[in-house]
Amino acid sequence: MAGLQKIGRNDPCWCKSGKKYKHCHLNREAEKPLPTAALLNLNRQQFIKKECLHPHAAQGVCNGIIDAHTVQRARTLQSLLDSDNHVHTFYPAERDAGGLLKVHRKGWRKASTFTGFCGTHDSQTFAPLEVDAFRFSAESTFLLSYRALCHELYQKQGAARSLRQLAPLLDRGLPPLEQEEIQRRNEIQIAGNQKAVGELVSQKHWADQALLSQTYSDWRFVCLEFEGPLCIATCGAPTPTKDIEGNQLQVLHDPNNQLQHLYLSVVSCPVGAAVVLGWRKEFVAPEKMVESLLRLQNDMLATFIVQYVFAHLENVCFSESWWSTLDLKQQHHIRQLAGIANPYYTQPPYSTESLVPWKLASLHRYGEA
Ligand SMILES: [Zn+2]
Ligand SMILES: [Zn+2]
Repeated sequence: MAGLQKIGRNDPCWCKSGKKYKHCHLNREAEKPLPTAALLNLNRQQFIKKECLHPHAAQGVCNGIIDAHTVQRARTLQSLLDSDNHVHTFYPAERDAGGLLKVHRKGWRKASTFTGFCGTHDSQTFAPLEVDAFRFSAESTFLLSYRALCHELYQKQGAARSLRQLAPLLDRGLPPLEQEEIQRRNEIQIAGNQKAVGELVSQKHWADQALLSQTYSDWRFVCLEFEGPLCIATCGAPTPTKDIEGNQLQVLHDPNNQLQHLYLSVVSCPVGAAVVLGWRKEFVAPEKMVESLLRLQNDMLATFIVQYVFAHLENVCFSESWWSTLDLKQQHHIRQLAGIANPYYTQPPYSTESLVPWKLASLHRYGEA
């Protein structure tokens, strides 16, 4: 904001909002700050948008937008229910006095849903996942990855709206130097978010073609089936920066780098839990991440996957019956992993202690690794 004094009332504002200075930061320090609860509420509202992400979405084709489940309702969410038909989750994030995430209970109808598909396209696209128990095939693993990708894009577009909406509200009543600092941080976040949205849009474009043609040769899938109760379920799209051994895989803040996503789902399967991993065949980072997982001893594999999931993904549901088998130290560890602000820059403190009662039953691959 150097040279602030020189800005005229009708000049463009220094914060690059595109507004005139007199309609933007002039007198910002005198404006009344919004209470945190109001900001959080506004933030949440920006994440709700009703739109159908199906490639054939159009007026007259789509019917009403529904609360589309990101993990299967039948079997998967069902296996996580407590006696009161609720599942456990850490989100929306709320911290206790010690800074740890609190466990919430959520009704299964609302758990892990998003308004990203109309009823017609949701059931048409994901019917193979809902109707039968999950079995490994290129189609079933692709569909899980596709849903993870659509959900990630939906979330990042929500974040884009939120960042733009909140930018002029976060620095109300603060001195000019702090305004400058807040707007600078926001600008970096907006740039990072724009990059992520742009790249997810192109990954979605490729995925739409695969969906419509039912040709999956540009994709790689690994599916691990574990014997034992399904105790967590998720669908997410991390961008692995380090493998399990801590080797660097990609640098997220390098504007010249293409972001490489891994699509990760944990769902119910006939023997127990299936961990399904998908990625574009030209992406090296997710492939190396998966290879590092597969190098783990069988009994370590499940515990590392579960920790990776909690550290990197928000959209995770888990069962009361599993959570209550963990001792306080183990619960503390999981809450700590889930609460890491940015797991991509510091390697999460993985434990070698067994945290899930899973035994590897089979491993399937699709495509050459
Ligand atoms: Zn401004
Ligand atoms: Zn539709």
